[in-house]
Amino acid sequence: MLLPESLQSLITALERLPGIGPKSASRLAFYLLRAPEEVAQDLSVALANVKANTAFCRECFNITEAGRVQCEVCESSKRDSTLICVVEEALDVLALERTGGFQGKYHVLQGVLSPIEGIGPDDLKIKELLGRLRDGKLKEVILATNPSYEGEATAMYLQKQIAPMGLKVTRLARGLPVGGDLEYADETTLARAVEGRSEMP
Ligand SMILES: [Zn+2]
Repeated sequence: MLLPESLQSLITALERLPGIGPKSASRLAFYLLRAPEEVAQDLSVALANVKANTAFCRECFNITEAGRVQCEVCESSKRDSTLICVVEEALDVLALERTGGFQGKYHVLQGVLSPIEGIGPDDLKIKELLGRLRDGKLKEVILATNPSYEGEATAMYLQKQIAPMGLKVTRLARGLPVGGDLEYADETTLARAVEGRSEMP
């Protein structure tokens, strides 16, 4: 091996991140090696803290502070428990909260189905979602996965699972950029997509 072991292990660790191939991993590792001491230090402190200081809500799997059982949305008595909006990531919850128009609750899948990346139903919080839906209080499930190929496929899969329960299943209105991410949509477009949602056939 030509590289020192510590550098090689940094590259290997970076390669495990989504969207980072071997080339980007090497580039980032060499950048950190050359950068001022505090750049690497800040990153290592932030990495250590993020795991220690955050947790996932036990109800909806949104991000919350460490030590809390539920997130703010689940804890609030003002939210409509008959409506659940299913999203891919916690960042999508933030985007929808920014629109201020959604008063229901959320369920964060923590990813999307992706056969290419080997991500199947058991790798996502789908079992937990179906468990919540069986609770009986629910009237409508909004499938707000991204309008990408994986997002659509995940929504179709979920609809098949939910259909036998007799719940109303809706999908966000078109108008969101295809292939785009919910988290990057502007507030007005996103609010309109929620308002104009339609029942899945
Ligand atoms: Zn929650």
